[in-house]
Amino acid sequence: MKENRNCKIVQDLLPNYIEKLTTEETNQFIEEHLKECDECKTVLENMQKDIQLNAEKQDKREVKYMKKYSNKMKVLKYILLALIIIYIAVVLRRTFIMFSLSEKAKENKSYDNYYAKLYSYHGDSLTITESYNKDGNHLTTMTRITVDGNQRLKLTFYNKDNEQIALAESEEGKYILNTETTAGWNVSPVTYVGDGFLINMQLAFITGIDSDYCNGKECYVIKGSSYERYIDKETGLAIRNIDKNPGQNDRSVDYEYTFNTVEDTDIVKPDTTGYEVVEE
Ligand SMILES: [Zn+2]
Repeated sequence: MKENRNCKIVQDLLPNYIEKLTTEETNQFIEEHLKECDECKTVLENMQKDIQLNAEKQDKREVKYMKKYSNKMKVLKYILLALIIIYIAVVLRRTFIMFSLSEKAKENKSYDNYYAKLYSYHGDSLTITESYNKDGNHLTTMTRITVDGNQRLKLTFYNKDNEQIALAESEEGKYILNTETTAGWNVSPVTYVGDGFLINMQLAFITGIDSDYCNGKECYVIKGSSYERYIDKETGLAIRNIDKNPGQNDRSVDYEYTFNTVEDTDIVKPDTTGYEVVEE
């Protein structure tokens, strides 16, 4: 009976004993009893086995979790790597597009025979610029009209064989301008890509590029935060440029160029009859 009662006490204490929560005296009591009681010894051994098993299960669970976690990290790493590669590919593509446009533009800008026509829109005014260029000579006119078709200002610049004439015509009158201050006033073919690979690469980081059509031509649109630039795929030259002015009217210019069509007879000396010389 005595053994039996002690057995109950010991078995109640065993979980705490295993966890080493019991006092030295209690331990002595338990250990004395275990020496004499096989039943309690078996109970203790079973309890220890269970704990061992649980611990192993826990370990396995943790290993499984760590594996899952590190797999997830691996996937994230690959996604990040893929995004970086895609970004680099996008920037490189833009760079090569702009570089090849700049090479084409360079070739076309080297012609000394070209005709250029520009339409500049700003607010309610339109300025039409026409320029005939041949062998270093040019005749360029700039006409500003309002939306209702009224001419506001016309400027003419003539340069042929070292003779220069600059004229202005407005509601205020017709004047011959000082050619020293207007010398060299002319338009040349425009491109909006950089000259060189590295400059284009810098541009490629801050601009987007799409394929599009503009004025019936296949072009690339280079989009910045405040502009859209349409560039002819064939010539590398600008077709249209839109400057966005928040809170104001957008400014836009359409460009047309033809090469090797200008004749000497296109560069006609302007008639200065009725024009007054401006006194400086
Ligand atoms: Zn016992």
